[in-house]
Amino acid sequence: MAGSTKKIFKKGDLLIREGEQGDRAYVLESGSVEILIQRDGALIQIGTRGAGSIIGEMAMIDDRPRTATVRALEDCQVMEISRDDFSHRVDSADPILKMVMRVIMTRYRDMISRSQFVQIPTLSTTAAESTENNDELHKLAVSTIKIHHELKTALERNELVLYYQPIIDLQNMKIAGFEALMRWKHPERGMISPGVFIPVAEESGLIVDLSRWALDVSCDAVKSIRQAANPKLLSTAYPLSVSVNFSVKDFASGNFFNQVQSTLRDKGTDPSYIHLEITESLLMEAPGPAKEALEKCRQLGVSVSIDDFGTGYSSLSYLHFFPIDNLKIDQSFIRSMSKQPSSYMLVKSIIGLAHNMNMKVIAEGIETEEEASTIKGLGCEECQGFWFARPMPLEDALKFVQNWVPTKIA
Ligand code: C2E
Ligand code: CA
Ligand code: CA
Repeated sequence: MAGSTKKIFKKGDLLIREGEQGDRAYVLESGSVEILIQRDGALIQIGTRGAGSIIGEMAMIDDRPRTATVRALEDCQVMEISRDDFSHRVDSADPILKMVMRVIMTRYRDMISRSQFVQIPTLSTTAAESTENNDELHKLAVSTIKIHHELKTALERNELVLYYQPIIDLQNMKIAGFEALMRWKHPERGMISPGVFIPVAEESGLIVDLSRWALDVSCDAVKSIRQAANPKLLSTAYPLSVSVNFSVKDFASGNFFNQVQSTLRDKGTDPSYIHLEITESLLMEAPGPAKEALEKCRQLGVSVSIDDFGTGYSSLSYLHFFPIDNLKIDQSFIRSMSKQPSSYMLVKSIIGLAHNMNMKVIAEGIETEEEASTIKGLGCEECQGFWFARPMPLEDALKFVQNWVPTKIA
């Protein structure tokens, strides 16, 4: 399975045949190819492509016959992208955009069938592709396609891991829990940050599998973390928990609650040991399904945190609408708090607002003792940040729990 998407074409092999139905594209990883069209019974070369190019991409958008033949000029390694891998992107695109894309494709194909090769600028590597913007777009498209493709098998290959960042209770300086943050240990590219692959996973729908996996692993992790802890720690008002990040796509299937419930049951995890985190802007994308699922989760005993609070949706009315236990103040506010009095006032107001609505506040991105001390002074309940610890592998988190000595903040 893992290797099935890479293919080798020998020099002279045809990757694509003009006139055949196309259902796949290729990303050329090494080698080069020539693009040929039939004119008056002869094959004429109209361009060449080198490593990094996408070939046969039109078949990703429509399923009409190929407009050219592509032949390997030397041995080539390609990554194959099937139409199925791509179709959800087209299906989920804005309807107008989809229509415009199809119109452009039809015109482009018509132009190719009517013209002689010298009049086909987009098939050569000059013209449209030569501008910097197009180069950038092209690189971005290739890298997104590659990430999506590799991410599909990353789970099976055990390349994904969760790191855990402690969340500290500011009142007693005990560990309230950990946030589970995903990392991708890529065999060639090293550690890839979630900022790179989570958006691709969200766009493609793969996030649902990733989230399910993260919840599963977090249930095991919270068990080990609680076992590692000093029993006195566990007697606090807050259970030592693990917070798992979810995306709005997770709610789209309508099966979210059942998934959470059955995972917790199968793992024998007390629902109060797991917290869900979801960003406010994502919530606003699908308020109805999200509200229903979150309400059920809360009834089960799983608490819900709004992540990156203050960065997304500007209206506060949604705070009434959704069942929310905690607000996580985004680190951008914490960063500017000590420099700008207005940011300080904003943080103060957010904490007041949350408390008035019976929510707890968790401050993110605490990098200095001063920041910890300031938000503690404002009544913020919990915080996390590099000043306490960076996200770490589970074995380090277990040592962290064993060795943690609650210390006072100045
Ligand atoms: P987030 O949920 O807001 O996670 C907090 C991010 O802030 C983490 O970045 C963490 O490493 C970083 N951070 C924590 N303390 C500090 C600090 O003191 N200073 C600074 N500068 N940064 C700090 P990370 O791990 O790179 O994750 C980035 C984002 O990726 C997360 O933001 C979250 O939105 C997303 N993400 C991570 N794991 C998952 C996951 O399992 N599922 C989903 N859906 N999203 C995830
Ligand atoms: Ca989070
Ligand atoms: Ca956050």
